Amino acid sequence: MDKKYEIGGKVFVLDEDKAVEAYNQKKVINGRETMTFNLLPLKYQWAYDLYRKMKANHWEPEDVPMQKDLEQWKNQSELSDSERWIIMMGIGYFSAAEGIVGDNIQHVVRELVTAPELKLALGRHAHEENIHADSLLYMISSLGINPHECEAMFEQIETIRRKNEFVTSASKNLRRDLDLTKTENKKELAKNIFLFGQCMEGTQFYGLFGMILSLARQNKFPGIGQMFRYTLRDESNHIELFRNLFRVLVDENPEIWTTDFKEELVALMKEAVILEKEFIRDCLPVSSVGLSADEFCTYIDYIADRRLNGVGLDVLHPGLENPFPWLAETIDVKKEQNFFEGRVTEYQKSSSLAEVSDDEL
Ligand code: FE
Ligand code: MN
Repeated sequence: MDKKYEIGGKVFVLDEDKAVEAYNQKKVINGRETMTFNLLPLKYQWAYDLYRKMKANHWEPEDVPMQKDLEQWKNQSELSDSERWIIMMGIGYFSAAEGIVGDNIQHVVRELVTAPELKLALGRHAHEENIHADSLLYMISSLGINPHECEAMFEQIETIRRKNEFVTSASKNLRRDLDLTKTENKKELAKNIFLFGQCMEGTQFYGLFGMILSLARQNKFPGIGQMFRYTLRDESNHIELFRNLFRVLVDENPEIWTTDFKEELVALMKEAVILEKEFIRDCLPVSSVGLSADEFCTYIDYIADRRLNGVGLDVLHPGLENPFPWLAETIDVKKEQNFFEGRVTEYQKSSSLAEVSDDEL
């Protein structure tokens, strides 16, 4: 169907069929290559909606006051060494981790997906990782922590080094010119998206999130607590973005969704959980601040199951309850979960991953 515009002496003809054809070629991977960033018409409306949601949550580290945190940090009697150590571990781990996530988006995921609205949301995601990395810089400088010490933690705290190694090894082989018509490579990308979204941001971030928010709940480090609350709100959107990306990728490439592949992903989550539990024991070597490492380990099992469930995989501990209901309140898990259930139902109508039924979630 042609539409004609006659303006002055000129006639412009727009062929709608050609445009529809281009739209139909929008895909997560192996879609139409275009240099014109054709956002419209949107095929993945959820990605655009998430982009807008992320943008509406914009925050800047400098807007968060750090005076109270600095007073507490300097005052020897106000805080125990264990509490200071949690902050050191938080700053040390996340300084590396936020950068790793952003780098993987820019050099792997955003490079390999083809639909412009997915690239739009991923660009915002990468930018938020920059804000998170910057917030750590701001915490370090506000408290007067030696940046060399922070850097040294990446290499010299074995549990941090192992967590970082676990994710970066899945990123480095996927850079540029990956032939995504090959099933093996599609699986590699799906694995990368699962690993970063569900295992790392979705699970391995939550040990420290919980500890730092517990401290904030006792009025310790209110500024850092506020920044972690903002970060956590952003992370919920990142997890959702990667969860949807994963599910649509599988939906469009159902040949990768084999029993073996599912088992491989569950095994990856198991490994992520083991690494996180070892890390938690380094963050909380003594249970002196009202926080117990055992409870945090149970919390990680609970979170990991939610992530597995969210992408249609079998959980590891059926029926496990959240040991920290107050944390669910603080981090607004409930709201996130409702949003997430809504999306799943909506998405399932057109999904081949229909085996995840509502009552399983
Ligand atoms: Fe982040
Ligand atoms: Mn993130």
